[in-house]
Order: sequence, then structure tokens, then C-alpha cells
Amino acid sequence: EVEDKMLEKPEATPRPAVAAMGDDVAKFRAAVISKLTYAVGKNPAAASDRDWFLATAFATRDRIVDRWITSTRQTYSEGRKRVYYLSLEFLIGRLLFDALTNIEMLETARSALGDLGVDLDRLRQVEPDAALGNGGLGRLAACFMDSMATLSVAAYGYGIRYENGLFRQRIKNGWQQEFPEDWLSFGNPWEFERPEVYYDVGFGGSVEAVAVGSDRKKQVWHPSETVEAVAYDTPIVGWRGRHVNTLRLWSARAADPLRLDTFNQGDHVGALVDQVKAEAISKVLYPSDATPAGQELRLRQEYFFTAASLRDLIRRHVDSFGDIRSLPDKVAIQLNDTHPSIAVAELMRTLVDENDIEWDEAFDITVRTISYTNHTLLPEALETWPVPLMERVLPRHMQIIYLLNAKHLERVRAEFPGDDALLSSVSLIQEDHGRRVRMGNLAFLGSHSINGVAALHSELMKTTVFKDFYRLFPDRMNNKTNGITFRRWLYQSNPGLTNLLVDVCGPAVLDDPANLQKLAENAGDSALHDRLAAVRRQNKVALARLIRDRLDIKVNPGALFDVQIKRIHEYKRQLLNVLETIALYESMRSNPAKNWAPRVKIFSGKAAASYHMAKLIIKLANDVAKIVNDDPTVRDLLKVVFLPNYNVSLAEVIIPAADLSEQISTAGMEASGTGNMKMALNGALTIGTLDGANVEIKEHVGDDNIFIFGLTAQEVEERRAAGIDEYGTIQRSPLLAEVLDAVESGVFSPDEPDRFKPLVDALRHHDYFLVTTDFDAYWEAQRKVDQRWNARAQWWTSSAINTANMGWFSSDRTITEYATDIWNVPVRPVR
Ligand code: PLP
Repeated sequence: EVEDKMLEKPEATPRPAVAAMGDDVAKFRAAVISKLTYAVGKNPAAASDRDWFLATAFATRDRIVDRWITSTRQTYSEGRKRVYYLSLEFLIGRLLFDALTNIEMLETARSALGDLGVDLDRLRQVEPDAALGNGGLGRLAACFMDSMATLSVAAYGYGIRYENGLFRQRIKNGWQQEFPEDWLSFGNPWEFERPEVYYDVGFGGSVEAVAVGSDRKKQVWHPSETVEAVAYDTPIVGWRGRHVNTLRLWSARAADPLRLDTFNQGDHVGALVDQVKAEAISKVLYPSDATPAGQELRLRQEYFFTAASLRDLIRRHVDSFGDIRSLPDKVAIQLNDTHPSIAVAELMRTLVDENDIEWDEAFDITVRTISYTNHTLLPEALETWPVPLMERVLPRHMQIIYLLNAKHLERVRAEFPGDDALLSSVSLIQEDHGRRVRMGNLAFLGSHSINGVAALHSELMKTTVFKDFYRLFPDRMNNKTNGITFRRWLYQSNPGLTNLLVDVCGPAVLDDPANLQKLAENAGDSALHDRLAAVRRQNKVALARLIRDRLDIKVNPGALFDVQIKRIHEYKRQLLNVLETIALYESMRSNPAKNWAPRVKIFSGKAAASYHMAKLIIKLANDVAKIVNDDPTVRDLLKVVFLPNYNVSLAEVIIPAADLSEQISTAGMEASGTGNMKMALNGALTIGTLDGANVEIKEHVGDDNIFIFGLTAQEVEERRAAGIDEYGTIQRSPLLAEVLDAVESGVFSPDEPDRFKPLVDALRHHDYFLVTTDFDAYWEAQRKVDQRWNARAQWWTSSAINTANMGWFSSDRTITEYATDIWNVPVRPVR
């Protein structure tokens, strides 16, 4: 039984000594009081936590702004090349601890507020998450912003300032419900509105050929509608505050907000129609992950932020360097997935139509400036737009795409005569199932570098999605394995482990994670094990408290915390984990005396609102949790927890408390994963398939310190080609057969026995994600996990070796590779 005293609030862990007292406590205290009074308009006696949070954020921001202005000035005066990271998503999370950590003022702020009777850790909880992203892709963009600032790369992030970020998930009776997340409702202290920085972005209308002189015609686009893109800037400060970059997010504003004539005629709603339509563009983030949104508003979002960003960066370039032709020497544009790939056509339009540059030269400038990161091989996730829609919304861009395609196919025809299959595969236009523009092909054609996000993924790109493009441009494709910022995912979220690492590896570990290696020298040391266990224990107590407070479930911090946190998707196979949970439950019930490793199965993640199978998987996890958690026979052995509303802040609590990290996607389907890196860095052992970056994690931590199971990507492909044989597979596995029977017959849904039939039917008849095929191997791997857990010294040795070898997965390493291989800009390492 878990006793309440096990879950008592631990003392806050002071942050690493090196990060303490970088500034004067009294000065900061005075600054907070001044902000509270003059910026928030409250006196200390009447101030709420939110008021104190705002005052603290403003005082912190002030410390960043001077460095920001210095960094920007330097970039101008040195004539440096700039990097522009275009991303429809930035999954930032909270910024208060991020900013304070990076400027080394966390302890100063804690003391200053403590003097005022205010608890900094409580203020931390008041800040809403900036959830302007769905999952891995958006979080990667946020980690990259941190690393680019840390490495003093002169960079801008460009995106959309969504009024509503990713929806808030509630679980009601086990079902997911979606509610809007209005993170801006109490103001955003980190941003600066720039009402004077705006661009008109056009949509629709027609294209006119205008004669220029006697022998030349020029295309002029007359949009039928314009929307203003207004800039909001957030300074992004790097580690130790050396350099500050800008995240510039665009908000949509109607060019003509009120039709006064209509209003005066009494039609008060009609007078606002244009405004509503224009402002819809930055209203809400599309909540689908790894599937294209496919609607007109999404296309408008994509063009809106891409066009505004290009106008802004070209203006800056021409102001600094005079001539748009030198763009590739001074500008690198990175497209985060295909979402901004209309940039290829927009840059061509700017160069050719607006700057009278010849087509071939314009194309050369475009390709040398732009590069593209691919994030998925899932065929259904590759963006395409219907030609009629493009013709209507972006008529001039459609013409440019046709022209690009004509010249491209002409070249292919000359080089590979008679190869019609090749032609249709590399065409920018898909001709079957209605004509559509292939945005991946457009991005590829218009870029000098195309990268995947993990070694396996980049190799698979060459044999699947871009197989034929690879034949045409073998030199353009490369790999940049994703990384994570250690500032957020270790120093801020796990101060206990950070202190230990500083102690064991020396303070230089904070600047250069190669120093983590020193931990490996003592990996077998029992004193180290005790310290690691104590840190983990404290983190698990904190998570157990959160679970108790939010779900009224008591979990034992002494049990193995087995964690799967990520978007809910069939390819990520939460279902496999739930089925194993059921098998474990049945086995524990029939043999409770066996030396099982007591477990807490922790799930968290959101499903796209329209993704029925994913929502059914959430319901199953919750239904299983209810039965298991109420069953006294497994009371001390198994608990199942589904934590609602997975976001960055929740991840920051779960990850340091994870013993086991579930990375069990169908091999070949997860491009990289970054949650896998975060948990391994914090010392969790991974159970996973040879997919995405798991492959490289295995290479770094060694085969003995990771639990790999299941089909390889190659085997998955072969199995699918040969036919999956679900029937035979299930017959050969009595355990699986029993689990499926139980789910199918309503053991977990007595109120609606057929509820999970669609899930079981899919497994029995078209198990595309190979859950049944991998089940037994997964079960076996889990029993090896039990054994390792029960041999606790081995467990902690493996844990230490994991942390010691994860330095390579720092996004500082990833950004250094982008800077060197793709952008051709210098980096300045911290030490
Ligand atoms: N969503 C959130 C809120 C995250 O913090 C992360 C990574 O930490 C992800 C999604 C990506 O997780 P994964 O790589 O496991 O898909």
C-alpha cells in the first residue's frame, strides 16, 4: 500500500552551484517590485500569483533585452550570414525557467522572491504553455532555437502566432474531449508587438501579362484579397546568455477591419466579415500530427507566414547588402517539413516578377538559398494540394510551379530518355486521383540540401519517398539526426541529476556534454547507484504526487515507472503496450507470488480530434486502468495511469521520473523521435524497436543497456509484401489470443461489450502496424526488463551508462552539423 507520507512534498532542489547568484538579489528584488507596480499596476499586498509571475517575467525579460540588442547590432555590423528557420510549429512550453536558467539567474530570482514571501516554483505553474505545435516537429524547432542562440548562430525563427495553440485534452469517462487552449488570455509577457512591422499578403485574384518594352512580357499578380501579417517578437536567449536571437511570429490582421459603409447601413455583422475571414488565419493551430490538414485555411496559413517571412528577410537583406542577387551568400532558409515549401514558388515570384531577374538565374538563387528537412515517410502524410485550389488561392504560384515543372521534366527527359515512370514520379504534379501539387517534390526541387532526421530515416528516404529524386540529385540528400536541448530537458527539469553530474563530471559538463562520459568510468560504483536512485526517487515522488492530485490514484514510487508519452498514433503502437499491460495483469493475477517487478504503466498523449482509432486506444487504456487499479489481487504489483493533456510542462515532470522509456513504433515508421533521447539522457532504459533514432541510441549506449525487440524496417517491408498472416500469428501466441479474446468479449468494457471490436478486428484482419507480429518479442523483452530491475545494481549501471553516452544527442551537435554542412555559417561553442 502506498502511504501518504511517501508522497510528501520534497524540498525544492537548489540548482547547480554554478548557476547561482549570477546577479545581485537585491537588485532583482527591486526590479520585480518596480515591474509589479508600474507594468502590472498592483501593489504587493494585493498581487496574485499571476501578477507576481508577470512582474518576474518582465524583470527577467529586461535582463535579456540588452543582450538582444547587442546581438542584433553585432550581426548587422559584422555583415553576418543569417539563418531563417521557417516552421509552422514551435512547441515552446513555458519560458520563465528557461530564460532564468540560461541567464544564470534562477537562484537569484528564487532568493529575491523568497524575500518577498513569494515561491518561485509556484509562479512557474502559473505560466501557460506556449503550445504552438503538435509534437516532435514543433518541439524540435523550439530546441533548435535554443541551440542556435547558444552557439551564437545569427538566426530567426519564423512562424505563426496562433491565438489558440494545441487543444487542451480532458478525459471524461475515459474518452478524449478537446477544448480550446487560449494561452494569450492573460497576456504574454515575453513578446513585443511590432504593429509597425507588417506586410500585405495577397490571395486569389488574377494574373495579367503586361508588356515591358517591345519584346518582353511580365506577369503581374492582382490579388483579390489582402491580409496584413503583423510581427510579434520573442527574444530567445542562449545558454549563459551570450547571444539572443528572435522568434518572429506573424499574426493576421484585416487590411480594412471595418466596412464603414456597410456598418452605417445597419449591417453590423456584415461590416466585420472581412476582418473575421482575415484573422481566422492565425486563430488556431491545425491539431493533426503526421497527417496533412488538407483544408483551404491551412494552405492560407502556409502561404501567409511564408510570404511575410520572405518579404521580411529580403527587406533586411537588401537593406544590409544592397542586392537581392547576393541572397545565397548571406541568407540560409531552412524549411521545417513541407509546410513552408510554397517558399520555392514565392521566392521565384519575387525574383522574377518583382526584381526582373531571368528565370534560370532566379532558380539558381532559390536553390542555393533554400534547404528542406523531411519529417515523415508515411505516404498519407505527404502534403499535396488540389490544382484547382492552388489556382484559385495562389494563381501566380500555380503558373510558376507549372513552369518549374516543365523545365525540370525537360531535363529529366533528356537525361533518362523513355523513362516515363521516372517522369511521373518526380513530377511536381500528381496526375492520378485528381491533379494535385506535390509539396515534397516542390521542396526537393527548390533546395540544395534535403535532410532526414535520423540515420535510418535518411537512408529510407533514398529508397522510398525520394527514391527517384535521389537518382537525379544524389548529392543533395543528407542526414541530420535530431537532438534536444539539455538546458530544458536536463538542467531545468532534473536539477537533482544535474547537481550529481556537475559533482561527478565537473562543471564543464554544463557546457560540453562530452564530459558526461566521465560518469561511465564510475558506472558500476554502488555509491553512485545510491545517489542516482535517490535522485530518481525524488522525481518519482513528485510525479506520484501529481498523479494523486490529478487522478486520485496512488502509485508507489518504489515501483518501476514504465512510460509511454507521445502523440497517440497507430504507428507508435500504444495499443501494443496496452495489450502487454493486459497480458501482464492476467499473468500477475494468476500467479501473484512470482517475482514480478512491480510496475506503474504511465501513458500520456493527445489524439487528433478526427482520428477515431487513436481515440479508441485512449479509451481502452483508460478502461483497462479502471479495472486493474480496482483489483486488489494486483494492488502492489500493477497500476495503470493515463495522464491527461500531455504537453511540454507535463513532459518535464514525467521524463525525470521515468525508469523505462517505451519507443515501440513499427520499424521504419518513426522518423526519429526525440522523447526517446530525453528519457535516455535522464537515465531511463529504453525498450524499443530498431526505428528512428533508437538505432543510434543503441549504438551509443551499447546493446546491453537497451532492450531491442521486434521486426527491423527491412523485415516489416518484407512481411507486408508477403502478407501478414494475423490468424496464424495469433494462434501461435496463446497469451495474445487470450488478451484479444478478453478485449473482444468486453472484459474491459462490460457496459458496452463491442466497444473495442474495431481495434481487435483490425488486429485480426489487417494489422498494418504489425502489433500481433511483434507481440511475443515485446513480451519477452519486457520480462528481460523485469530481470534487470530485480538485479538492481545492473539496472543502475545501465542507467548511468545511458546518461553518460547521450551527449551526442544534444541539439548543439545537430545545429553544428546544419551550420557546417548546410547553412555555411560559423558556430561559437560555449567553451
Ligand atoms: N510532445 C511533447 C509535448 C513533447 O515534449 C515531445 C518530446 O519531448 C514530443 C511530443 C515528441 O515525443 P516523441 O519523440 O516521443 O514522439
